[in-house]
Amino acid sequence: MQTIGLIGGMSWESSLEYYRLINQFVKEKLGGMHSAQSLMYSVDFEPIQQLQHQDEWDRLTQMMIDAAKRLENGGADFIVICTNTMHKMADAVEQNINLPLIHIADATAEVIKAQKLKKVALLGTRFTMEQDFYKKRLAVRHQLEVIIPNNEEMNIIHHIIYKELCMGQIRGASKKAFQDIIERLAQNGAEGVILGCTEIPLLIKQEDVSIPIYDTTTIHARKAVEQAIS
Ligand code: GLU
Repeated sequence: MQTIGLIGGMSWESSLEYYRLINQFVKEKLGGMHSAQSLMYSVDFEPIQQLQHQDEWDRLTQMMIDAAKRLENGGADFIVICTNTMHKMADAVEQNINLPLIHIADATAEVIKAQKLKKVALLGTRFTMEQDFYKKRLAVRHQLEVIIPNNEEMNIIHHIIYKELCMGQIRGASKKAFQDIIERLAQNGAEGVILGCTEIPLLIKQEDVSIPIYDTTTIHARKAVEQAIS
């Protein structure tokens, strides 16, 4: 089995899910007392989220490269960045290490395409929804049509992610807000919705909405396990 190198802590609420899921998937595949062989380098998220909101992406890129190098030196066989947003620097990370990186958007797009969907909504941090690094990859590499919420909805989603979900708070009113946004996007033609922030699956489950959800945390963790035991 290969050793999974996880860059975690963004936030630790979702890193816990990654840890639980990779172990669960290995157990399902190999049985017995098998569990995932893994390393996690877990960051302090407060300075990171401050730098994100100050648009200091170059410094953040250096921090992600540093984290990946630590995992490489520790014996990881490949890298998993446990957040969608920080895939903004995925290419730079990959170029600066000698290990492959499992890209969360590619793993997610593969699942969507296997189900023959063409048009999907993308929910995540404002950075993920608004900037090109994620949407463009889905569109150009995977030929998916991606729609995003309107400005007011993006504000609501971004606020809930950083002020609630990353702080371990799960609120009924916020679930309702997400449900309303997803249903509106479905009316606008979204055939499915990418939960493109690794904390959103803590709030929204398949039974909460009428269109298929693509839980990036679970999809990414499963892909990592497939790679580790392939
Ligand atoms: N975990 C989140 C994501 O998947 C947000 C936290 C972050 O900014 O990294 O995008």
